[in-house]
Amino acid sequence: VKRKILICGGGNGAHCLSALAASRENLDVNVLTLFQDEAERWTKLLEDNDLKISVTYNDGNESEIHSKPSIITKDPAKAVEGVDIVFLVVPAFAHAQYFTTMTPYLQPNTLIVGLPGQAGFEFQCRSMLGKKASTCTIASLESLPWACRILEFGKHVQILGFKESLGMSFLTGSECNLSFPVVETVQEILGEKPKIQVIQNYIAVNLMAKSIIHPPLLYGKWGDWDGTPVPEKPLFYQGVDDRQAELLSKVSDEVLATAKELAKLRNGCDMSEVIHIFDWYKIYYKDQVSDKSSLMMAMRTNKAYDGLVHPMTSTEDGKFVPDFTYRYISEDVPFGLVVMKGIAEIAGVETPTIDTIIAWAQKKLDKEYIVGWKLTGKDIASARAPQSYGLHTIDELFNM
Ligand code: NAD
Repeated sequence: VKRKILICGGGNGAHCLSALAASRENLDVNVLTLFQDEAERWTKLLEDNDLKISVTYNDGNESEIHSKPSIITKDPAKAVEGVDIVFLVVPAFAHAQYFTTMTPYLQPNTLIVGLPGQAGFEFQCRSMLGKKASTCTIASLESLPWACRILEFGKHVQILGFKESLGMSFLTGSECNLSFPVVETVQEILGEKPKIQVIQNYIAVNLMAKSIIHPPLLYGKWGDWDGTPVPEKPLFYQGVDDRQAELLSKVSDEVLATAKELAKLRNGCDMSEVIHIFDWYKIYYKDQVSDKSSLMMAMRTNKAYDGLVHPMTSTEDGKFVPDFTYRYISEDVPFGLVVMKGIAEIAGVETPTIDTIIAWAQKKLDKEYIVGWKLTGKDIASARAPQSYGLHTIDELFNM
């Protein structure tokens, strides 16, 4: 059978998935991009050309794939028509716009996949789809399957590496009857790598999100900063000091304590995938990290992080100040740390380190999510915690 899928987005990941999926014979691929004039520009660029991916496989082999999606549009009616599966491949702050635009056109028995979902994806999707949510299945992958970047917009994208495996959870709506198996079908679309690992509990995927890494490192570096511009951009990971590593470790401890408490409160619920960030580095980057003696050293000696610097803007006299509007805060706090905090609050677990970091970050974002140690700030609706959608109890969390 030929299956019709929709890919939402126009960035690195959306280019990759569009080209990969369109190269498979049994797939018909639509693309919906709502950002600026991306749809128009991309359509024009592909009039006489195919979309090209240059792939470097993990064994060093290289290949090129040429293909073309059927349509690239900003019109949701056209994009969604006849589609079985919708992939959202955009940063988390852009998800809401796609849910709003697509919902009127979604047919029952559609699979909606967050690639990646990022923390709070299911809460937001359920809430924004309204009555239609129960007729859909909502899946979330823990990250993007590839390290990838656009070389030339609309025309050429590069895959620098495939993840070996990737966690995915899914919530089947009470009135949803998909005509295809979720895991096998998503696997077929992605290809052989990464191997999808099913995570039974969607809360575990939320607590595994790697959005916990950037905010403590930023707070550790700039929390006491007096505003004086610095002569160069500091290294983000290779420059990690004891205090930053300790803050990250404590955030991870608090997330882990939340997972353990939930497992206790919901007898039998499996939270074993939620592991400490130091253990995760040792497993996930086993070949890239040369010194595994501490979390600080693991981060400082991770080859995958070579040369990455703090997000900074330059001043008139050629110096630098931190850019607190960058994704490391604007995505990773409302769509990351605040979600973990929300789940912890419901589990009754105290999170003093997470609270301190959110309190600092929300000032930089000019938002109020947390008041003291409770998520009762006036801007909580613009984040993705369970509380943002009126979920306040363990039962509400688990019976979504
Ligand atoms: P990207 O930065 O390439 O996404 C940019 C695209 O997002 C734009 O082209 C546009 O379509 C959309 N967009 C940007 N600003 C928008 C706005 N204000 N309103 C509406 N749409 C807007 O993102 P990506 O690299 O494809 O990554 C997607 C997700 O995957 C992110 O959450 C990222 O953190 C994660 N991720 C990426 C990589 C990677 O290698 N690129 C690796 C791991 C995880």
